[in-house]
Order: sequence, then structure tokens, then C-alpha cells
Amino acid sequence: MEKELPPGLRETLERAARSNRMVLVLTGAGISAESGIPTFRGEEGYWKVGSRNYQPEELATRKAFTKMPEEIWAWYLHRRSVCRRAEPNAAHGALVDLETALGDRFALVTQNVDGLHRRAGSSAERLFEIHGNIELTRCSEECTGAGRDALAPLPASISLDWPRGKALGEEEKRLLRCSRCGGWARPHVLWFDEYYDEELFRSRSALALVEEASLLLVVGTSGQTTLPFQIVLRAASRRIPIVVVNLDESPFSEHALATGGADVRGKAAEWLPAICARLS
Ligand code: NAD
Ligand code: ZN
Repeated sequence: MEKELPPGLRETLERAARSNRMVLVLTGAGISAESGIPTFRGEEGYWKVGSRNYQPEELATRKAFTKMPEEIWAWYLHRRSVCRRAEPNAAHGALVDLETALGDRFALVTQNVDGLHRRAGSSAERLFEIHGNIELTRCSEECTGAGRDALAPLPASISLDWPRGKALGEEEKRLLRCSRCGGWARPHVLWFDEYYDEELFRSRSALALVEEASLLLVVGTSGQTTLPFQIVLRAASRRIPIVVVNLDESPFSEHALATGGADVRGKAAEWLPAICARLS
């Protein structure tokens, strides 16, 4: 059953729906949690290499990839198989319906690399995947430059079923190479020790969307990364109402309240259908 919205939140949403400005949505790993994809703060985050346990923040780095590319690739191929087994949930679906209703008055910035927004039906031009996509690769030596035409899908013959702990075979070691220079291909994701980039991740464009927004809806993110943080701060400084939907308190809760938005504690798949319906 669709959630009943508190009256204050309903009014905030209806006001945004009536304006001719944009509804900007920012999503994080929490929106995909109910699809079965673990967040980084969840218990399944760690990964064993040899006898040592690593945290995702240590593995999702250029430093780790340079030191142990085969192990990092095995981690990504496993995570990719988890993403491909997962199906979009009601929260992804609600955002697709909202986009259908609002058209160019809608934009979606996601930190997720799982591709579930795309698979649910969000359109590529209004979707800003600021941390990349786990289905894409590029040359780790950047032999083709850093533009989006350097991107290639993962080779189709690499198995979609990649159990935890499975090592790369000779075939994958051959396939996960740049076709031009022979160096390692790498996942097209933004690592924790790398900088945002407009050409590869449309990061500046994503931040600029705030200027056009009448409302910012922030879903399932713990706010640990810089660009999402900047988006929220910019919206707060412009007094754009911020509506946060998160299971736990988030660093954005206070901005939600200060901007006359709302801090909704709960599951994205339960709240987004009602929230998006009011915004349509
Ligand atoms: P995070 O793991 O740091 O935080 C997730 C947040 O979502 C938490 O605050 C949690 O309380 C909340 N949450 C959990 N389940 C929820 C639910 N059902 N409904 C609403 N909220 C829920 O995630 P992050 O802030 O996105 O940052 C993690 C980084 O790791 C990002 O850079 C991202 O690219 C990457 N990552 C991506 C995926 C993915 O693509 N699905 C998964 C894990 C990590
Ligand atoms: Zn190359």
C-alpha cells in the first residue's frame, strides 16, 4: 500500500510540482538495497585477498588496482554479477514515472554504478552517472584520452555469473586488455582516490542542475562523497527545499529541515511511489 504523506511534505511537493522549474533527484546505494545490492556500509562490503580482509574504500582505488589488478577485477566481476542478477525495485520505477510526467523538468544524478536506473527505463540524457557504470571499461593507461568515446562495454564472453572468490582465468586476463595499447582495461567507475571529471562523468553539468531546481530529492545516500555533498550544500544555500529519504539519519537531515523540506526515515521503495506521485 502507498504510504500516506504528512501534510507539510505534501504541500512542499505540490508547490514544486506547480512551479515550472526542475525536480532534481540524487540517489545512492540505499535505493538499490531492496533490489539485493549491498551498500558499502553493509556487512557484505569486505573482500578477502589472500589472508587479508579489505574494506571497499581500500579496493575501489587506483592505488589498489595498480598493485593487484587481477584481484580488483575479480571483485568488480563479482559485484557486476550481483548487479545483473538484481531487478529494479518500486523506487527506481517511481522515478521513471516521474520522468515521464515531467519530461525536461526532471533530472537524476546517481552515485550508483549498478545500472538499475537505466534498466528500469530512466532515459540516458537525463541520467547523470557521476561515479560511472560497472558494465563499462576504459584503458587504465588512458591511451585514447579521457573522453567518453574511450568507453567500451565489458566483453560479452565474460561470465555474468561470478561467484565470490573466483579468480580471473587466462581468457579473462586476455579479454580485459585495451584493444589499442594492450595495457589493462579498468572498470569505468570513479575510485576513491580519483577526481571528478566533466568529460567522463558529467560532474560539472550535474552540479549546475541545482540552479534550475525547485526541489531536491535525496535518496539512500550516506553523503560521504564530495559531489553529492556539494549538490546538497548548493541547494541549501539557495533555499531550495530538500527532501531526504533514508533508512538512517544522514548528514543531509539537518539541511532538509532547514530548507523547509522533509527528513523521511524509511525505505526508498516504500516512500518513493507516494512522493513521486505528488510531484507528477
Ligand atoms: P552508502 O553505502 O554510503 O550509504 C547508503 C545509505 O542508504 C545509508 O545511509 C543507509 O542508511 C541508506 N539505506 C540503506 N537501505 C536503504 C533503503 N532501503 N532505503 C533508503 N535508504 C537506505 O552509499 P552511498 O552514499 O551511495 O556511497 C557509496 C559509494 O559506493 C558511492 O560512491 C557508490 O558509487 C558506491 N556504491 C554503489 C553501489 C551501487 O551501485 N548499488 C553499491 C555500493 C556502493
Ligand atoms: Zn590503451
